[in-house]
Amino acid sequence: MTETRDVVILGSGPAGLTAAVYTARANLSPLVVEGEPSSTSDQPGGQLMLTTEVENYPGFVDGILGPDLMGRFRDQAARFGAQFTTAKATRVDFSASPFGVWTAGADGDPDIRARVVIVATGARSLMLGVPGEDRLLGHGVSTCATCDGFFFRDQKILVVGGGDSAIEEALFLTRFGESVTVVHRRKELRASKIMQQRAFANAKIDFRWDSVVNEILGDGKVHGVSLTNVVTGASEVVEAAGVFVAIGHEPNTAVFAGQLAMNEAGYVTTTDGTRTAVDGVFACGDVQDHVYRQAVTAAGSGCMAAIDAERWLEAHGEA
Ligand code: NAP
Repeated sequence: MTETRDVVILGSGPAGLTAAVYTARANLSPLVVEGEPSSTSDQPGGQLMLTTEVENYPGFVDGILGPDLMGRFRDQAARFGAQFTTAKATRVDFSASPFGVWTAGADGDPDIRARVVIVATGARSLMLGVPGEDRLLGHGVSTCATCDGFFFRDQKILVVGGGDSAIEEALFLTRFGESVTVVHRRKELRASKIMQQRAFANAKIDFRWDSVVNEILGDGKVHGVSLTNVVTGASEVVEAAGVFVAIGHEPNTAVFAGQLAMNEAGYVTTTDGTRTAVDGVFACGDVQDHVYRQAVTAAGSGCMAAIDAERWLEAHGEA
């Protein structure tokens, strides 16, 4: 028989784990459906598992590595009694509380029922969609400098994108690569000024402005990319052993299609705090925030979702 929990949290990034700390401390024994380690989009710990140094999380004066920070979040939630299942939601039924969550397929009874669900499934890296990208993913194409930078020691590396992620990756990769070339489709970076200054001051980083990737080249492993300058129309092949794609994100909301209201970009719509269109389902973190997308704002909204969930359970006589 399917077990019914008071609170099930989908996702284990800063938002989900903060919601877990708060609901665990409120004695609601939350179950965190934390994602799958094999996945690049739903990995336990969320996107910070794919980052390097986090320098702007308050309280960590000297910075902290993303995976270390998430380990601390998780330990803190576990200390207060949060439980974890290493799986991802494959189907949900939000038609009425208790809601159904499937974690293995979509047939039969749900694997978990929950009076309240907190959706914190985050967002994932966008890909270029050019020839060679899929085929060479894990063979020179990467979305994670922390994970894969080491493989390109003393080699030529290319980073695609012009935002904070791309520049952060490029700066980190200078620790390993002989050179790091940032390929950006315009001639101005989107990244914050401080990141731009660091990149411009780094002798290992050069730029290919107004340039788009046509194809990632390689046979078994990457050996370069074909670029076109969108202003001059000129094409060139740039040699590289590693290609890091850092062009933004999309929300992990496919499983909620037809169940939750979303905006045109697929982010879950919330109103009045963290309430979704379904009474008893709350959403926090990057899955509902395409503007701030910071660990600290995700954690803050995880706290809000937990408090909203506690109050909802209290009002419905179940906490
Ligand atoms: P972003 O700010 O949306 O930047 C995406 C970049 O990729 C843009 O430069 C964009 O070009 C380019 N791009 C998008 N689609 C492309 C395509 N198909 N082909 C080529 N280029 C493409 O995303 P992000 O850098 O991941 O940052 C997301 C948010 O997280 C931002 O708010 C950022 O400040 C924050 N963040 C902060 C830090 C930090 O503070 N340490 C680190 C990482 C991220 P255009 O500029 O032409 O649109």
